[in-house]
Amino acid sequence: GATRVSHSNHFRSSFFLAVRKKKTRSELGSDRGKFEARKMALAFDEFGRPFIILREQDQKTRLRGIDAQKANIAAGKAVARILRSSLGPKGMDKMLQGPDGDVTITNDGATILEQMDVDNQIAKLMVELSRSQDYEIGDGTTGVVVMAGALLEQAERQLDRGIHPIRVAEGYEMASRVAVEHLERISQKFEFDVNNFEPLVQTCMTTLSSKIVNRCKRSLAEIAVKAVLAVADLERRDVNLDLIKIEGKVGGNLEDTELIYGILVDKDMSHPQMPKQIEDAHIAILTCPFEPPKPKTKHKVDIDTVEKFETLRKQEQQYFDEMVQKCKDVGATLVICQWGFDDEANHLLMHRNLPAVRWVGGVELELIAIATGGRIVPRFQELTPGKLGKAGMVREKSFGTTKERMLYIEHCANSKAVTIFIRGGTCILFILHLLINNSFLGYGLGNKMMIEETKRSIHDALCVARNLIRNKSIVYGGGAAEIACSLAVDAAADKYPGVEQYAIRAFAEALDSVPMALAENSGLQPIETLSAVKSQQLKENIPFYGIDCNDVGTNDMREQNVFETLIGKQQQILLATQVVKMILKIDDVISNSEY
Ligand code: ADP
Ligand code: MG
Repeated sequence: GATRVSHSNHFRSSFFLAVRKKKTRSELGSDRGKFEARKMALAFDEFGRPFIILREQDQKTRLRGIDAQKANIAAGKAVARILRSSLGPKGMDKMLQGPDGDVTITNDGATILEQMDVDNQIAKLMVELSRSQDYEIGDGTTGVVVMAGALLEQAERQLDRGIHPIRVAEGYEMASRVAVEHLERISQKFEFDVNNFEPLVQTCMTTLSSKIVNRCKRSLAEIAVKAVLAVADLERRDVNLDLIKIEGKVGGNLEDTELIYGILVDKDMSHPQMPKQIEDAHIAILTCPFEPPKPKTKHKVDIDTVEKFETLRKQEQQYFDEMVQKCKDVGATLVICQWGFDDEANHLLMHRNLPAVRWVGGVELELIAIATGGRIVPRFQELTPGKLGKAGMVREKSFGTTKERMLYIEHCANSKAVTIFIRGGTCILFILHLLINNSFLGYGLGNKMMIEETKRSIHDALCVARNLIRNKSIVYGGGAAEIACSLAVDAAADKYPGVEQYAIRAFAEALDSVPMALAENSGLQPIETLSAVKSQQLKENIPFYGIDCNDVGTNDMREQNVFETLIGKQQQILLATQVVKMILKIDDVISNSEY
């Protein structure tokens, strides 16, 4: 059955409300009218994935002039409206059901749009918009779409007043330049270094505070910052995020999430009595069988006496003994094999004190080889000291009372790569989901969902830390920067004598929609809250006042430690303006059938 998900701003926590309801396509008509003047409809396909129907296209295939612009604006606005309620620390989460019934619960704008099956070209542009922000900055993916939606809404009003779309587009361009410059002016540099990274942690905490995982924002932010600093090149101010691997394993608590200075392999030592910890490990990485050659089936071995059997066995044992000796001779203190070896060999390895790990996959072997600077050895004869990988510490860690064990390969010789290892407990969201959906999917799935969302949230935090290393400037969040820009753009409008000034004013008003959405999502009166904060900013000429989403008792975002990166905010404004300009410039929509 299809699951519809709807949201209500009356809930002040970040819970979701899911309504289970079967719908046929003919029934979907009743959803119409929720969106723009009955032109748009948000519908759900048989798998519960939302998609958008643009109504005019039922009747007309070709739209020209103002009709085309209006229809396109409506499509863009519809997408923005879906994301609007997810913005901010009190934003709602969305539950998306995939084609094979897999469920994603997320608060991340890019992810929501990614998973939605949008069938309108303009709506797809909005998806692209969110993706670009994700690609360039990593955070602010919801905000950028909300901003674009507000710009479209304002543009529509200007068109209704009879202002030509090109004039609106040009006005927006000027306004965006004013806003971006103003951001630069109000931005603050904040200093940090490897020893004092508290400011970085604070900024990452702002990002995480709007996520489902905000319960652990402090520890997750610290992990993210430490990970970024571990791989950062502070001199070149560059961070290669590819060096940070994010792994997850169901079980334990979110609090158990940890940072590993190295790589993680989901394997254990082949024998329980082997040492659990090897310092300064020299690792032989073998893709050849680590056991005596087995008689192939096509060969015939006659064993007709007990003696012959004994000799063969001895020979095999001796052969293996020599292999072990060879490993020891080249200096290996740990053997990692792609293949297995039998219990007898295992026992011998334990006795000869050569720890080994078996059945390690090809991909992981490669990863180990790259990180430790070792070479994969495909033929046993080729094993030489130079081919061994080196790691400061290899240890096996077991989790709680479970039998699960993982291998930590830390302080590798060749790589700064780190791993963030996420643990996830049963999440309350998931239990809610079970109750509402009245179906039991197993706790494992619920935990996995939590881990997936944690991965996305950590990704955002990593991006924020990276951006700050690239550029140390920050602006204040909670809508403070937007309100400051709105005031600046409004003031600038007077300087333009042309029709553009209307568009510039409209841009200023659109900027207000971000703090308005934040207030609305937090259960505050949007207009009253906004005007109070705005007049406070004007009166004291201080750009730090924003929306007090968490009811802390102050509007001063400096006190609340709500920062965002300058480049992130600038990028949001620039990208949103670009997309809206693009949409405004389309005046002819020709579908395939017209050709
Ligand atoms: P995005 O995907 O755009 O990052 P978020 O859901 O993360 O969307 O919301 C980001 C917005 O929430 C930003 O405008 C940010 O300044 C604001 N915000 C985050 N934390 C707080 C807070 N504690 N108080 C007020 N505003 C906050
Ligand atoms: Mg965010």
